[in-house]
Amino acid sequence: MERPLERPQIVQIAKSVNEAEGIKTIFLKSDIKAKPGQFVMVWLPRVDEKPFAISYSNGSEVGITVAAVGPFSNKLCSMKPGEKIGIRGPYGTTFQLEGKKAVMVGGGYGSASLTMLTEEALQQRIKVKFVLGARTKNKLVYVERIKKLIGSDNLIVTTDGKKKSTRCLCAGRTR
Ligand SMILES: Cc1cc2nc3c(=O)[nH]c(=O)nc-3n(C[C@H](O)[C@H](O)[C@H](O)COP(=O)(O)OP(=O)(O)OC[C@H]3O[C@@H](n4cnc5c(N)ncnc54)[C@H](O)[C@@H]3O)c2cc1C
Repeated sequence: MERPLERPQIVQIAKSVNEAEGIKTIFLKSDIKAKPGQFVMVWLPRVDEKPFAISYSNGSEVGITVAAVGPFSNKLCSMKPGEKIGIRGPYGTTFQLEGKKAVMVGGGYGSASLTMLTEEALQQRIKVKFVLGARTKNKLVYVERIKKLIGSDNLIVTTDGKKKSTRCLCAGRTR
């Protein structure tokens, strides 16, 4: 696994994409190579430093998916391409894939790591079904990305809000 950076690397925001209601994916110009399940520490000078799961990694950019809920995450979501932030990492462990079939069960930005894991599973010719949950339909992330990877027949979407037909917690769908 890649050795983590001990000091923040100052990186530029390449682009910021609206992922869902109040949730953005921020792409950073960085050559950090991350495995599914890992996270980076994001440093905003004079604000704070907080962990964020890596949702994309291709060797020249890393993506983090941020829900704007408080001072740090709101500041991060308001930043524009070209602005700079600090990141350290990657930290954390990754998953061990086994067998020929896998089921991913994830909710909200918690599915960041599992979406990357799906990409890795497909490279290893492992078939994937994905149960994706969110509080409401508007907060679902990565739906199109996952459909492109495994096809809509292999994606089960659940919400625990009031506005969606498949109303249940995603863990319940796996029973
Ligand atoms: C290992 C790890 C990985 C993480 N990965 C991500 C990630 O990929 N994306 C991400 O957005 N955050 C992630 N977080 C959370 C992130 O580090 C911050 O805690 C989060 O952004 C809130 O910080 P804040 O200062 O903006 O708000 P705070 O001041 O800490 O919180 C403001 C209010 O929002 C509530 N709150 C905090 N988080 C949430 C939430 N997710 N949903 C609803 N309410 C909440 C708090 O209880 C509080 O009432 C991760 C945390 C850890 C430990």
